[in-house]
Amino acid sequence: MAILKILKYGDPVLRQKAKEVSKISKKIKTLIENMIDTMYANNGVGLAAPQVGESLRIFVIDVSKDNEPYNPVVFVNPKIIKKDGAICVKEGCLSFPEAFVNVRRYSDVKVKALDINGRPFVLDAKNGELMAYAIQHENDHLDGVLFIDHSRNIFEATEVLKANNLPQLEDDKLLNEADLEELILQKEAADKDKER
Ligand code: ZN
Repeated sequence: MAILKILKYGDPVLRQKAKEVSKISKKIKTLIENMIDTMYANNGVGLAAPQVGESLRIFVIDVSKDNEPYNPVVFVNPKIIKKDGAICVKEGCLSFPEAFVNVRRYSDVKVKALDINGRPFVLDAKNGELMAYAIQHENDHLDGVLFIDHSRNIFEATEVLKANNLPQLEDDKLLNEADLEELILQKEAADKDKER
């Protein structure tokens, strides 16, 4: 077991597109086990291999609560095969210590991947549950995309990054998510109607 060093925002590896894993060797298994240990040591919900300097298509997620047993899920060569709905969530990232920003996400995703033994599985995460947006967050890391690229309010994101002494937003990386934004606005309006 080893706790790995987590790269911080500004490190170029975080912007690289990661490579597929061709074989789950002993070395890859050790990397995955160390990633799980590193995630727990930092109280994270998820961790992607590029965050520990390995540009490979692997991430781990554990959405269990504090009073529940550990339940790590390993994703090797994941592919999001379906996405639907929209939500706004406040996310953080172990590569952005203490910085939490509102981002746009799909509320439902279906992902297929290999587990640590190379067995394929499909996972459905719905209704904006933590697993649904954690998968999107971690999968993005494999393509060099970071959660702040999904910022819903660039003024908020700018302030949060500044307050935490992190590098500023990269304007050319910001994603135009007009369709997601429209769905989120509709949902917010419907929620407000319900309150009346
Ligand atoms: Zn992250």
